[in-house]
Amino acid sequence: MIKQDLTSDCSNCAALCCVVFAFDKSESFAVDKAAGEVCANLDGSNRCRIFAERETLGFRGCMTYDCHGAGQRVTQEVFGGRSWRNDPGLTSRMGAALSVMRRVHEQLLMLRTAEKFPLDPAERETARMLVDSLSPGTGWTEQSLKTFAIDAASRKVATFLRSLRHHVTNAS
Ligand code: SF4
Repeated sequence: MIKQDLTSDCSNCAALCCVVFAFDKSESFAVDKAAGEVCANLDGSNRCRIFAERETLGFRGCMTYDCHGAGQRVTQEVFGGRSWRNDPGLTSRMGAALSVMRRVHEQLLMLRTAEKFPLDPAERETARMLVDSLSPGTGWTEQSLKTFAIDAASRKVATFLRSLRHHVTNAS
């Protein structure tokens, strides 16, 4: 059973997605922005000044991004509520942690969907082991995220999900 909150909570995040990622000027973003550069639309309270107008002002890319709860977890659990605002040296470190944490949460989200199938005992055990591998008992740290083999973990989840195709076939 996955207990982790996989829903984004911007009120507990240091606006990481508005800072750590780069944008390329395109249909999705009206401007170029380098990784680690604070978006010009972000106010001092970590709110988007153009939130309701993002689509019309050319920032559709922001609307399609979802951290699945990784942003607040990196901010609160990994960095103890600290922010790049007080310590600019944290920007790239928080960005690196977010990149892995988001992928961890994506895998957990897929496993949460899989848990809704009528899994047999072996499948349930595999799901449990995969969830455990993505949910360290003492929580994630900057170091454990840095060294975590997220590509290998993602491949294991993908293999497991492919093995559940018979549940989809049976349900249709
Ligand atoms: S436009 Fe708004 S939501 Fe998008 S990155 Fe900038 S501040 Fe964040």
